[in-house]
Amino acid sequence: MADPLGGSPASPGTAVGVVARLTPAPSLPEQWPEPADAEAEIAAATGALAAVVAELSRRAESVTGEARDIMDTQIMMAGDPTLESGIRESVGNGRPAAWAVHDAFSTHLTALAAAGGYLAERVTDLADLRDRAIAGILGQAPPGIPDSAEPFVLVGVDLAPADTVTLDPAKVVAIVTEKGGPTSHTAIVARALGIPAVVGCAGAAGLDDGVRVVVDGDRGEITVDPDEETVSRIARDTAELAALLAEHSGPGATSDGHPVKLLLNVGGAGGIESAGAADAEGVGLFRTEFLFLDRTEAPSVQEQREAYGKVFAAFGTRPVVVRTLDAGADKPVPFANDDDEPNPALGVRGYRLAGRNPDLVRAQLEAISLAAADHGADVRVMAPMIATPAEAAEFAGHARAFGIAQVGVMIEIPAAAIRAGQILAEVDFVSIGTNDLSQYTFAADRMLGELSSLLDPWQPALLDLVAAVADAARLAGKPAGICGEAASDPLLAPVFAGFGITSLSMSAPAVPAVRASLRQRTIEDCRKLAADVRGAADAAAARTIARELF
Ligand code: PEP
Ligand code: MG
Repeated sequence: MADPLGGSPASPGTAVGVVARLTPAPSLPEQWPEPADAEAEIAAATGALAAVVAELSRRAESVTGEARDIMDTQIMMAGDPTLESGIRESVGNGRPAAWAVHDAFSTHLTALAAAGGYLAERVTDLADLRDRAIAGILGQAPPGIPDSAEPFVLVGVDLAPADTVTLDPAKVVAIVTEKGGPTSHTAIVARALGIPAVVGCAGAAGLDDGVRVVVDGDRGEITVDPDEETVSRIARDTAELAALLAEHSGPGATSDGHPVKLLLNVGGAGGIESAGAADAEGVGLFRTEFLFLDRTEAPSVQEQREAYGKVFAAFGTRPVVVRTLDAGADKPVPFANDDDEPNPALGVRGYRLAGRNPDLVRAQLEAISLAAADHGADVRVMAPMIATPAEAAEFAGHARAFGIAQVGVMIEIPAAAIRAGQILAEVDFVSIGTNDLSQYTFAADRMLGELSSLLDPWQPALLDLVAAVADAARLAGKPAGICGEAASDPLLAPVFAGFGITSLSMSAPAVPAVRASLRQRTIEDCRKLAADVRGAADAAAARTIARELF
C-alpha cells in the first residue's frame, strides 16, 4: 500500500468504498459547430430536456421533505413552454441544440435573479437543469453527484450547495474534496449527515473512478487500494464503535455525573422532524440565515414566525437557542450586505448590521417571540459577531423589549473572548463560535483549505481563549457553551468539560460519540486532561496527549 494521501479531517468516522467522481458542469466552446437542419436541432434540444425531466422525476420518487420540494419545482420549471419557444428562436438564429438550450435558459435565469425572493433562490436549480440538458445533447454524463446503484466514495474539487440536496448517506459512504477547509460548507453538511469526510486533499485530484479507498475522517487520510486485512479491520472497528455508542443515551455527563448539556445545531426547517427526534437536550444553535439568503428583501414577520415555529414545535419543551441573522462574509445576504466591502469577514456583518438597519433585528426578535408564544416553547436568543460589552448590552435591550427572558451572545471575536467577564455582566449566557473565533484569532480565512492547520481547533491559542471564557463564566455563575464545529470532536469534549464549558452543540450524528467520550471519565480526569492539553506546544502535541489518554 502506498503512503496515504493527506487532507483536513472534516467529518469523523472511517469508511471503505470505490471512488465515484463528482461530474463537472459541461462547458460550451465559444465557437459553435455548423448546426444540422433546424428541426433536428430543436428535436435534440427538447428531447434532452424531456430526458432530464424523466430522470429527475425518477429520482424525486426516492426523496422526501425539502429535497423533494426542490426537485418537484425543478421538474415544473423544465416544463415551462417558453423554454421551447426560446430554443426555437435561438435555433432560428443559427445556433445548434446545446447552444440554443443555453440561450433559452439565459433569459429565464436573468429574469429569475431579477425577480428576487423565492424566485431568485431557484437560479441554481434552473442552471442545474440547463447543465443536465446540455450534457445530454453533448453525450456527456450529467453534472453533480453520480447516480450509481452501489454505495461509493464521492470525490470532487468541492461540493456546490445544490449538490448536497440529494446527498444520500445510504449511497455516499464518504466524501473527499480537493478544496475546502474544516469549516467549509462541505464539511458542515458531511457532519450533519454523519458521512466521514476529508477536505482540502490536493492528492484527491489523482483519484480515478472505481479505485477502492479508505477514508479516515478523524485523521484526514485517504489510503488508496487498501489490503484485505485493513478492510476487515475497519469493518470490525466500525461494528465495535457502533456497539459502544449504543450503550449510552440521555443527557450529557461525565462518568461521575457532572453535566455537560448535549445540544443540536440546526439550520432550517428541512429535516427538522428527525432532528427533533434525536436524543439531545435541545438546540444550542438555530442558524436563521436559511430564510434570508438569496433574498432581495427581508422575509415578513409572519413568514419568519411560521418558519421558526416549525423548529420550536419539533423540540417541544426542550430549550431552543435562536441566533439572530448572521449575514455577511461566508453567508452573504444581498439586501443586507454591501458587495463592495474590501474585507467582508471584517465588515458590517452579523449583529453589526443592526446599527445600519435596526428594524431587521427587531422584526426577527418579534417573530421569534411570537412563535415562542404560539408553541409555548422555551426559546432563547443570541447575537452573532459581538465585539464589545456595549453591543451585548444593546442586543439584550432589544431582545428583552420583546419579552425574551434568556438572552446571550456568541463569542467569536477575540476581543469578546478577552472581555468575556464584562460581556457576561450584560447577558445571561455565552456560546463560543469556534469557527469564527479560529478565523479571527489566526487571521486565517475559514474557507481556505490551505490554512486548515491554523484553523485546527486543537491550536493552543484557541484553547486558551476557550478556557478564558469558561473561567469568566464560572466567576459570573452563568453558562458558557460551544456551538462551533469543535464541539463535535469527541476527543475535545472532555477537554472542554475540564475547562468548565457547560454545553456542547453539534449536528445530530455527532452526539452519540461525544456523549460516549464524556461518559468515559470523571470531571477530575477531564480537568487533568485539560491542564495537560493546555501545556502542549502545538495542536498535534495536544491531540496526541488526548489520544493517548483515551
Ligand atoms: C461559529 O462561527 O463557530 C459558528 C457557530 O457560527 P457560523 O459557523 O454559523 O459562523
Ligand atoms: Mg460564526
